[in-house]
Amino acid sequence: MSISLKFPDGNVKSFDDDATVLTVAQSISPTLGKKAIAGKLDGQFVDLNAPLSHDGAIEIVTKDGDDGLAVLRNTAAFVLAAALADLNPKMRFGEAHADEDGFYVDTDQDGAQISVDELTAVKDKMKAIIAASDPIKSVSLSQADAAAKFGDDPYRSQLAQEAGDPIAAHQLGDFVGFQEGALLPDLKPLKHFALLSVAGAYWEGKSSNPMLQRIYGTAYYKEADLEADAQRRQEAKERDHRVIGRDLDLFFVDPKVGAGLPYWMPNGATIRRTIERYVIDREVAAGYEHVYTPVLANLDVYKTSGHWQHYREDMFPPMDMGEGEMLELRPMNCPSHIQIYKHHIRSYRDLPMRIAELGMMHRYEKSGALSGLQRVREMTLNDGHTFVALEQVQDEFKKILQLIMSVYADFNITDYTFRLSYRDPANTEKYFDDDEMWNRSQSMLKGAMDDLGLEYYEAEGEAAFYGPKLDIQTKTALGNDETMSTIQLDFMLPKQFELSYVGADGEEHRPVMIHRGIVGTMERFIAYLTEIYKGAFPTWLAPTQVVMIPVNNDAHLDYVNDVKAKLLAEGIRVKVDDRNEKMGYKIREAQTQKVPYTVVVGDDELASASVSVRRYGEQDSMSQSVNMFISAIAADVANYSRT
Ligand code: ATP
Ligand code: ZN
Repeated sequence: MSISLKFPDGNVKSFDDDATVLTVAQSISPTLGKKAIAGKLDGQFVDLNAPLSHDGAIEIVTKDGDDGLAVLRNTAAFVLAAALADLNPKMRFGEAHADEDGFYVDTDQDGAQISVDELTAVKDKMKAIIAASDPIKSVSLSQADAAAKFGDDPYRSQLAQEAGDPIAAHQLGDFVGFQEGALLPDLKPLKHFALLSVAGAYWEGKSSNPMLQRIYGTAYYKEADLEADAQRRQEAKERDHRVIGRDLDLFFVDPKVGAGLPYWMPNGATIRRTIERYVIDREVAAGYEHVYTPVLANLDVYKTSGHWQHYREDMFPPMDMGEGEMLELRPMNCPSHIQIYKHHIRSYRDLPMRIAELGMMHRYEKSGALSGLQRVREMTLNDGHTFVALEQVQDEFKKILQLIMSVYADFNITDYTFRLSYRDPANTEKYFDDDEMWNRSQSMLKGAMDDLGLEYYEAEGEAAFYGPKLDIQTKTALGNDETMSTIQLDFMLPKQFELSYVGADGEEHRPVMIHRGIVGTMERFIAYLTEIYKGAFPTWLAPTQVVMIPVNNDAHLDYVNDVKAKLLAEGIRVKVDDRNEKMGYKIREAQTQKVPYTVVVGDDELASASVSVRRYGEQDSMSQSVNMFISAIAADVANYSRT
């Protein structure tokens, strides 16, 4: 018997049926034999020394690249589990995996928790296991063996049951685990690793299941990579909007009150209100009509729109009000704005009709995906829908794009790229059936981009079913791509909801709908800004813009309060710190709260009717008249986030 393996370059070769990744790699070249650490057969990882059981496409995995890293990290997860089992024979084990950032092991020891401090001892144990240099073996277990061995570990029992019969498992010393993916046969390369943190994770990701303790770590082949990673993590921690959000008292989310349902504290609410006012003003100036529409509607609306058929997984279940009335929390605002359009008969003179709203919507995101303000279940989208005649698409698209770019400039968002998504020309039947709409509108979007002299990437086959779109990708502070804004054409909803306008010819025509977001949801946008600014919000957004500190309450507080009244009258957000604390302490606190201006007032300032002003991030202070100070803040605010 022999097996036939296809290599990435297309070559097909036959091998004996006891061939392993190692023997196959050696047969290609001795060097590859040395470098091989695992393989992939039809995309599935296989251990270096496990027999290749069937024909298929083979890839040899070496240290280089993501697959090599995944094998190393998978091995680290296994060794971590083995070390934990050694330290605590009663410990039970859920999932263990490599992921993009490192690896993790889910554990349960009857409610006893491992603290971060104990991770050092665990790491030492891992090192001892590695030093003992026993190999990890691939073993095959019958279901009966597994049942006997893991009877008192409900998680491993279940994993074993799901792993088929016989079960392909791995063994190191006495420890047996079922990890998907390949492991290194030899632990020597596992040198540069770290155990990072512990957190809770539900078994199988379901909140109705028990909460396990997840231990995170990471591993690299080179010490320098591990160090660079540690630096990135430190940076990430300093920028983490959840940490900053707590330190600056911006918002909180309490799963006991509602997972993914944020509470905006006064500081966060001030930032949000400022952005909301700004956005509404910009939109109104650009010809948008702002509306308010309900978060609830009859389920039928979402049946007409198709959300119920295609988006149900992300929707909250409908509320059965009795007597056939079903109410649904909206996952998107489009159908609501369509109601506004439909409320009157529209003529070509009304177009383009631009409807905007800071629209609250609800999506039932998975509990494991929720993260601070970045991914929530109740969110408010800076939403807008424009209804246009087909021939107006290009002009309107340009206007929207110019508005978006001008808003970005005010927020100093400069690093972004454009992606135009078209339908797949080879598969047009997969898309809304109107060739003229597609052809004309796609060339109008492209033409608009070219007219504006913008560079863009064209992605065929990436359009939505209902129309082409432009995505604007920004980079988060940590370098991840994020879609900040989209402009999407929609031919379908106008048809589903039977929208029309009366043309100059007196006939009824169907408008095209353009969905567009400028800054996305308030939640995700403010999470993004918090990370970009590291919490040091520019003056126009800062919850407190000025902190005033009297040197001596008895002598200076009255004057400070006079100045405060003047600042307040100019709309400046000012606080007076008149607590009985040392001045140095108060100044430091204003700095940790990242307040843009700290003002100290003593005898000199009182005598000269001035203030001593220190800008956030600077060491020196400057004496200014109160009026000059007010003008400086006004200029700063008027400059938004531009630098
Ligand atoms: P994602 O892929 O991140 O789930 P999406 O593609 O479903 O987002 P859209 O339906 O286009 O997002 O929603 C518009 C905007 O709403 C997004 O650009 C993003 O800013 C924001 N958004 C989407 N889901 C969430 C969420 N769960 N929490 C916060 N903001 C969200
Ligand atoms: Zn929409």
